[in-house]
Amino acid sequence: MTTILVVEDEEHLRATLVYNLRKEGYTVQVASSGPEAVAMVHAIAPDALLLDVMLPGFDGFEVCRRVRQVSQVPILMVTARSDEIDVVAGLELGADDYIVKPFRIRELLARVRAALRRPSSRSGGVDAALAPVRAGDLVLEPATYTVRLGAQLLSLKPRAFALLHFFMQHPGQVFSREQLLRQLWDEPFIGDPRTVDVHVRWIREQIEADPSHPQRLRTIRHVGYQFVG
Ligand code: CA
Repeated sequence: MTTILVVEDEEHLRATLVYNLRKEGYTVQVASSGPEAVAMVHAIAPDALLLDVMLPGFDGFEVCRRVRQVSQVPILMVTARSDEIDVVAGLELGADDYIVKPFRIRELLARVRAALRRPSSRSGGVDAALAPVRAGDLVLEPATYTVRLGAQLLSLKPRAFALLHFFMQHPGQVFSREQLLRQLWDEPFIGDPRTVDVHVRWIREQIEADPSHPQRLRTIRHVGYQFVG
């Protein structure tokens, strides 16, 4: 069963999309605001996202950014403007494709099929991204957006959460700040490497017994950082 999450606040358009996608045999779920969309991605791990740009709460770009921190689910941005800025911004944030309103349903369905054919959409892209990761008593669950240290629930901002997730998926591996920037911001030339240091500090404040003498997330002098579990 292939589930498509339709994120659209215009009721009529949403109903049209739902009707046509269901007719194609997809299971369809809907969200009508930015926050609802992000919550739904965590809750149901859809196989693809049809994402409007202008939404209440926060916009489609922000949805895209947040979803990409936990999932490689194919995202098709739906934009009302053919504005190139929109398109570029969406793609830089990790959207796979975009379609400009007004569009023909047939074209949209073709784009959805193409997005679903992408290898990462099938071979456990979403599931792997949402699977819990453990390192001793530290457990991170992308699906519920929680990190626990033993019985203690930790509090991390979204990017720090994503960074810790990345480290935990690659225990023992040493990463430079530039590699980490590229991993998290997709654009190593815009980000300031010190941003990585700040996020590492936030993570250490949560996961280290003594943040000034880190045992789990180590600094490798002149190189970068290493998560040892
Ligand atoms: Ca809208």
